[in-house]
Amino acid sequence: MDLLNVAGELSGTERQRLLGIRQVAQHQVRKQSVGYWDREEFPTELIGKLAELGLGGLQLGDSSHLLRGLIHAELARADISISSVVGIHNELVLGMIRDLGSEEQRAQWLGKLAGFEAYGAFALTEPEHGSDIAGGIRSTAQRDGDQYVLNGAKRWIGMGTFSDFALVWAKDEETSQVGAYLVEADRPGYSASKIEHKIGLRSMQNADIRLENVRIPVANKLPGVTSFAAANQLLMQSRAWVGWQAVGAMMATLDICSEYVAQRQQFGQPLAAFQLIQQPLAEIAGNLSACLSMMGDIARKQERAELHMVDAAMAKSTATRLARDSAALGRAMLGGNGIVSDFEMAKVFCDVEILHTYEGTYEINSLIVGRALTGVSAFV
Ligand SMILES: Cc1cc2nc3c(=O)[nH]c(=O)nc-3n(C[C@H](O)[C@H](O)[C@H](O)COP(=O)(O)OP(=O)(O)OC[C@H]3O[C@@H](n4cnc5c(N)ncnc54)[C@H](O)[C@@H]3O)c2cc1C
Repeated sequence: MDLLNVAGELSGTERQRLLGIRQVAQHQVRKQSVGYWDREEFPTELIGKLAELGLGGLQLGDSSHLLRGLIHAELARADISISSVVGIHNELVLGMIRDLGSEEQRAQWLGKLAGFEAYGAFALTEPEHGSDIAGGIRSTAQRDGDQYVLNGAKRWIGMGTFSDFALVWAKDEETSQVGAYLVEADRPGYSASKIEHKIGLRSMQNADIRLENVRIPVANKLPGVTSFAAANQLLMQSRAWVGWQAVGAMMATLDICSEYVAQRQQFGQPLAAFQLIQQPLAEIAGNLSACLSMMGDIARKQERAELHMVDAAMAKSTATRLARDSAALGRAMLGGNGIVSDFEMAKVFCDVEILHTYEGTYEINSLIVGRALTGVSAFV
């Protein structure tokens, strides 16, 4: 549902592309994703369908920010795990190599990434440093002739169990400068283990990564990263992407609940006929429309290269808060059936928890907005 016709701003060609992606996502991904989620299994076959639609290289085309955002929302509407795979792959891995990598790194990886023939991982968070990672990076890189030697640990790294390489954020031991290093997964001393028993994004694999004297050529350092400011630029764009994911989560909530209350009968009537069912449905639709409109504004700012961190932080924190509120209303509306993943709503309810937490938690993004409002930083 797009009450405000945000998608109406797309060109005819872009609108056709979005509709094509919606068809595949709704008919070939949505229901199929539930089993993968239950089994905590990476949905390789479903990603194959998205590769055919060119979604491995979403960042490389000339599509507008609005189209990209709406595509991310459509993917999240079908399955939030899959939209996370596509989002991290494009926003944080492919985008990072394109913008901050060397000519050789681009030539070696961009084509393969665009076809989902290769995967990368964005390895920033560490076991002891999450929200305070900007000043807390403990992983190190030490220059030794024409090589760097990397040591440290990374936690929560998406696709880290099977990716061909990880983009590892580490501190240069001599200069203390933060840098980013492309570390192929088959380098001796590199290991990744799957984080089991997650309650959300269950089909996207997250890893604990260990780096023990891993040697890489000097050419594997990303030349465009000379400080943590580069990470902030990437995180600003990816926070906007999570805002679109939250929009997709609210679309999914409305889809699932509208279908359910139309067919479920209690007291001799469909649930849809009760006022106390229509009121939360209207609230979810209002949350969705407010966020869709806000994200449309964010896309226009991105188009003009005027997006600031405070905008992205406000959009991310607001959209994920309202997606969480909406998912709670939706889950309750399905009664007992809202507790099992078979009816989809429980899956959305759990996945929204991750949107609330990753790419800067709700609290940290709120504090970025609070700092802009007051001029006082409450977190550094
Ligand atoms: C499923 C999943 C996928 C992820 N994927 C990736 C990935 O691909 N790559 C990557 O690098 N990272 C990834 N992350 C990591 C994610 O970005 C971190 O989990 C997040 O930044 C929070 O860090 P933390 O978990 O260490 O929590 P902590 O920083 O320990 O925070 C715990 C709680 O304290 C709050 N808190 C912390 N400091 C303050 C403060 N000053 N004031 C008020 N409250 C505060 C937080 O908001 C939170 O509620 C992923 C995480 C998850 C769960």
